Amino acid sequence: MTLSHWRRALAWLLAWALVAAVGAGWLAHARLLALEDAFVTDARIVHRLLSQRAVQHDAVMAMLPLLQPPAEGQGSSIAMPLPRLPAAYPQIAQVLRRLPGSAWPADLPAALGSALDAAEARSRHSGHAELAQADLPRGRAWLALAGPADQAADHALLLDLHATIPWDEWPMDAQTSPVRVRLQYQGQAFGVQAGRRLAHGWHYGFHKLLASQSQPFDVVLERDVGWSELPWGPMLAWAAASAAALAALRALLRQRVAARRAEELLRLGQVARLNQLGELAAGMAHELNQPLTALLASTQAAQRLLDEEEPDLDTARHAMGQAVAQARRASAVVGRLRRVVERPDLSGQAQALALPAAVHDALHLLEPELRRRGIAVQVDAPADLPAVRAEPVALQQIIHNLVMNALQAMEQSEAGQRRLRLALVQQGSRVLLSVRDTGPGVAPEARARLFTPFYTTRPGGLGLGLSLSESLAQAMGGELSLAPPAAADGAGAEFHLLLPLAHQP
Ligand code: ADP
Repeated sequence: MTLSHWRRALAWLLAWALVAAVGAGWLAHARLLALEDAFVTDARIVHRLLSQRAVQHDAVMAMLPLLQPPAEGQGSSIAMPLPRLPAAYPQIAQVLRRLPGSAWPADLPAALGSALDAAEARSRHSGHAELAQADLPRGRAWLALAGPADQAADHALLLDLHATIPWDEWPMDAQTSPVRVRLQYQGQAFGVQAGRRLAHGWHYGFHKLLASQSQPFDVVLERDVGWSELPWGPMLAWAAASAAALAALRALLRQRVAARRAEELLRLGQVARLNQLGELAAGMAHELNQPLTALLASTQAAQRLLDEEEPDLDTARHAMGQAVAQARRASAVVGRLRRVVERPDLSGQAQALALPAAVHDALHLLEPELRRRGIAVQVDAPADLPAVRAEPVALQQIIHNLVMNALQAMEQSEAGQRRLRLALVQQGSRVLLSVRDTGPGVAPEARARLFTPFYTTRPGGLGLGLSLSESLAQAMGGELSLAPPAAADGAGAEFHLLLPLAHQP
């Protein structure tokens, strides 16, 4: 019993764990979705802002050939820097102009010079500015634009990427945001925003090329979400709330089971029967008292008359006639009582029943009682036991009586020694239910009288349980008996209930 108790408690615990986990998982999932949404929105804004800047650089480049060239530069063999562009373009660090036939300044590294030449050649072909050289770790990039006509000047422009980022429109707080932002090009990277890197948790990523032909940089954003960012408060609140709800449900169910059990016990139990029997006995005593008193009076009178010297035979005969009439009245009272008490023939109401289920029901009803007395219950039933033919209520009553007797018999046994074993087994065309306890057993002289009505050894016992059970068993075509004492150990009693199979082989 205690085992099934633990098992049920475990089942409730598992149910709670499942409900709590599903709810908490859903909350966490919703939070992660919201974080990812916010990340993707920020990433799109960053990509748009940086693309706008890149397009601006292209526009500045396209505008450079239109600027009036300074007069002293005409015919110079060396490219010259243009005056600073308006303060609106702090990201443009340097602009060089080269007239046809002139060379790049000597102080430019040779590699940059040839890179500018190559970009210029590509630009002549494509008609727009081209990336000449990128040094992303230092945040610098050179763009080159070939003159629109053969005689027009070529231009080169040095970008300072640090000044390219529009912080005033930035969608995140650059100092505290966990999002990492960088520009990537051919294995180089320019870090825009440091963000935060985590070893464990969830990872979101975004990358998309800048919308500019001259600056083919990849905008990369990454965001790590740690365990600490999950909504622990609501998750724990949900777990607590579901525990409370399940506990309430369990209490409610238990209450209902207890109420149903009490009702059922009252129906089967001693209390109801005791009341009925008490009333019956009182009524019977009342009805019998009068004829028996009259009978006594008549026979005493007859005795007195016959004892006289000259017996008055006529009067004595009359008194005896009265006595016979009273005795008949008493017999009629008893007869009427028997008709009231007589059990109806139950075989007509019998139906196919699973005996293990009936045993389980009876034990379930007595479970609190079994637990209170610390009785270990064992039920042995083969899985393929065929159905029996029985009347459900009568069968319940018999099993209940047998188990109650066993419980009462084990009252004297030591706490650790109280074991109840119910075994089911098919025997030919019948099924045998044996109920065995570890109580004191039945004394040899009591064996013969056990099933007679009103035989009892219990103070307060009625001595009707076994006789009633026996007649119920017989009414269903079955049999109830006390098993012969086991040879090995005399301790305990074993009762056998035999019931016919529902479908005779
Ligand atoms: P009651 O339980 O009211 O005494 P029963 O007809 O059920 O009436 O039982 C009659 C008697 O049979 C009991 O008083 C008891 O002496 C004996 N008896 C019944 N079951 C057992 C048992 N399992 N072990 C020992 N004695 C038993």
